[in-house]
Amino acid sequence: MKSGSLWRLSARLRAIFAPFQMLIVTGTYWGDEGKGKIVDLLSAMYQYAIRFSGGAGAGHTLVTPGGQKFIGHLIPCGIARRVRCVLGRGVFSDLKRFCTELDVAKGVFGENLPPIWVDKYSPVWTQWHELLEKWLEYAMGKKRVQTTGKAIGPLAGLRILRAGIEVRHLYGDPRLLRQRLTGLYVALKPCFDEMVRLGIIRKKEVWGPSKVERELLEHAPRIERYVTDTASGLFKAFCHRARLLFEAAQAPGLDIDLGTWPYVSAGHSVAAGAPLGTGMPLRAFARAVVLMVMKALPTRVGAGPFPSEIWDRKKCEQFALDHPELFKDTPDRIKFLRVKRALINAGRATAKDWAQYFQVLGYELGATTGRGRSVGWMDIMWLHYVIRINGPRWFALTRFDMLSGLKYVPVVVGYKLDGKRLQPGDMPDTDDLYRVEPIIENWKCWDEDITGISDWKALPYSAKQFIWKLEKLVGVRILLIGTGPARHQIIVRSSAAKKKVQIAA
Ligand code: GDP
Repeated sequence: MKSGSLWRLSARLRAIFAPFQMLIVTGTYWGDEGKGKIVDLLSAMYQYAIRFSGGAGAGHTLVTPGGQKFIGHLIPCGIARRVRCVLGRGVFSDLKRFCTELDVAKGVFGENLPPIWVDKYSPVWTQWHELLEKWLEYAMGKKRVQTTGKAIGPLAGLRILRAGIEVRHLYGDPRLLRQRLTGLYVALKPCFDEMVRLGIIRKKEVWGPSKVERELLEHAPRIERYVTDTASGLFKAFCHRARLLFEAAQAPGLDIDLGTWPYVSAGHSVAAGAPLGTGMPLRAFARAVVLMVMKALPTRVGAGPFPSEIWDRKKCEQFALDHPELFKDTPDRIKFLRVKRALINAGRATAKDWAQYFQVLGYELGATTGRGRSVGWMDIMWLHYVIRINGPRWFALTRFDMLSGLKYVPVVVGYKLDGKRLQPGDMPDTDDLYRVEPIIENWKCWDEDITGISDWKALPYSAKQFIWKLEKLVGVRILLIGTGPARHQIIVRSSAAKKKVQIAA
């Protein structure tokens, strides 16, 4: 892309976002919507990129203009724009993974990274949290959550039980650190003993307090220069009119309170998590705008309901494991996609064909776990729900290019439960969500490949109709449309920034 076009893209974004001192970017479904790319793009308009929840279980991918991939698990994606990166108080600190990520970031962005802040009150991961997660997943049997294994749940849970340590303890009185670690060990030991007895782990896998302490103190000196009271720093920055971008981890479907509990992550992934997870006063958010990132075809990994899911979750995971060659740029992949697309357009595709087509086309592998993601149809009912709980001004729709070359795509426009159609905005509980019958409509797609298009006018008419129809149904404007993974492969609809949408009757 010519630098002139990139400059124009930035100028339009600047004009749109200039009135908003604060921006909150959240996902829409169950994560992996492409928030990394959107945050990377919009960080240029802000001076701070702030994570306010989650831990190393999150994974945001961005592709630099030089084509390098960076997956941020803890460090916000604003790093590519050299803005100050903040791991707020609501983020769970995994010191070891943070150090590894610093090394990866240096490899991608150079030795001289932008300033980074880690909150001194953030709860700290230990090996015991990971063992406890293993234990909980074992104990829950068939009802296990199938987490990413990064022990975010145990960290959050034990914080509520007031057990464990915060980052600041690593730099304070050593006796206090030892006391707190010993207390945690004593509290968890009966679980570990039982795990050893049942053969889930071996005895020597359970570290004693001194080993855990040694491990933590090994990383502490490297991190010390980043540690600060981020809430105080952010508030001062806000008062000095600094522009702040808040980046949610995961997505509303995985929010601890508003998601599909118990199949959720352990923090707040909705916009309301931003004040809580940073210590910023609610009043400051009068100057904020919420942008939700939605992918054209939602995906889910792990356990939990997914009403618009196309095919079998386990089989999707296994399919990706059995066919790694299809998730790399190989001739096999191209052939596979051609054959499946032909089946789809001939009206002969099964659910399996559709799901595998989108899974391969979208490289749907978890950024943290490498598990194959299960794909679903766009879900208008779910969109109504997440709009209600997040209050977005706009959507960024990513991966719109994935619908190119199809005659039509099914979209879930309603749910029926026990034979009755639900009202938009209603959301059944987790158990009922497994039972809802999706009401499906086929929406027209287009022949042309729209990959890389950055001008709304250049979109095929059917693609524009698709966007208009979606906006009308959900009542929220789509400001950004992703047409490929790279930073510049995006359409900015300045007209959508201004006009309100007419909601369909
Ligand atoms: P995140 O956690 O929400 O950032 O999502 P992921 O890390 O799973 O990223 C989603 C993937 O989609 C990344 O590989 C992105 O480069 C890619 N991506 C983002 N936007 C688009 C888009 O508009 N089209 C295509 N084809 N890929 C995209």
